[in-house]
Amino acid sequence: MKSILFVFLLTASLLKAGEFYGETRILWGIPVTVTFYIKRENSPEKIANLCFLKLKEIGYKLNYYDPNSEISAINKNSGKRAVKVSKETYELIKKALAVSKMTKGAFDITVRPLFNLWDFKKKKIPSTQELIKAKEKVSYRSIVLDQITKSVFLTKEGMEIDVGGIVKGFMADICVDILKNSGAYAGMVAVGGDIKVFGKKKGNRLWKIGIRKPRGNGIVAFLEITDVAISTSGDYERFFVKEGKRYHHIIDPHTGFPAKGIRSVTVIAKEGALADALATALFVLGLKKAKSLPVEFVIVDSSGKVHISAGLRNKVFITAP
Ligand code: ADP
Ligand code: MG
Repeated sequence: MKSILFVFLLTASLLKAGEFYGETRILWGIPVTVTFYIKRENSPEKIANLCFLKLKEIGYKLNYYDPNSEISAINKNSGKRAVKVSKETYELIKKALAVSKMTKGAFDITVRPLFNLWDFKKKKIPSTQELIKAKEKVSYRSIVLDQITKSVFLTKEGMEIDVGGIVKGFMADICVDILKNSGAYAGMVAVGGDIKVFGKKKGNRLWKIGIRKPRGNGIVAFLEITDVAISTSGDYERFFVKEGKRYHHIIDPHTGFPAKGIRSVTVIAKEGALADALATALFVLGLKKAKSLPVEFVIVDSSGKVHISAGLRNKVFITAP
């Protein structure tokens, strides 16, 4: 309660000063923050509201758990028929497939049958038998898109897609577009940990964004950037420890097991959807293969060492060893 009040007071006082607006709402249990600079006469409250409404609308279509979502319609008809979807759902699945191709399936929205075998609350590790059986239903190559009819067909029965690994970055993209089209000249949108920034703040300042330590509190590094998206995937979000081993929620689609070797991957890209999906993908690929892709990253490996891609070396500042 206290912190909500603080945000409100801060917003109100800055608003009075003129150009700044910031608001946070909780959507699907995730904090979504929009922050932007705009001329006061453009009704920033209405613009922020527009963002939240749009996110709610597309979130409803894309929710794996909602039996009425477009994703559920696609999944229920796997092996049966193609399902016509909205432009946004179609575009998102297309983007997901592009990342699958680029990463040879390290990112794969059909991973759900493998993912569902794990129970993070009950600490359940699936049997080899279960994994082999589920793996038959996992392949991005069995997603058929039709650009003309905007339809999606999962060719194998029992196949399922889940856009959880790309949707938050995609939402950041959509929100930033709304802000820009409404006249904002700088801003930041954060959908959970998936962030997109544009323009420069008062005094020509860049946006300063911290990267969380995968173990303990505080940050390992921060970046000073603008006009990019930034996403982090970590082994500390959803996990359990059994017999000294950590099992987390980023699954290697080729093995069905949580990917090894990395604690967190942060990706910087032009698009939020790309940053989000690539963070998951690089986590699966590991440091060596990550280096062979044209992707800018900050990786904390399983020994805690921080690796920074060449293009980011003058933008990332390490704060902790
Ligand atoms: P978070 O949701 O914690 O931000 P990610 O963006 O890395 O994390 O997405 C992880 C989610 O994506 C998982 O909860 C799961 O639903 C899904 N997922 C897990 N492994 C993969 C994978 N290899 N490819 C695509 N999606 C995945
Ligand atoms: Mg992701």
